[in-house]
Amino acid sequence: MTLQLLQEIDRFDLRWTCDDCVHLGEGPTGAFCNHGWPGLSRRGASPLRPGDALVFCKEFEGY
Ligand code: SF4
Repeated sequence: MTLQLLQEIDRFDLRWTCDDCVHLGEGPTGAFCNHGWPGLSRRGASPLRPGDALVFCKEFEGY
């Protein structure tokens, strides 16, 4: 994660977390991935900083 990427995320409102994915479901026990992937990435879970690693889900599909 570079400072330039952080600035572009803000400028272009880039989205990649499960919160913005059509495959995120909600059930009685909480949120889950309809494709069965563990470890949901949630928007705002922790602030991004330069040097952080980002993990992208290849099945992400935005609204
Ligand atoms: S498909 Fe990927 S991005 Fe979408 S909800 Fe599942 S884990 Fe998250």
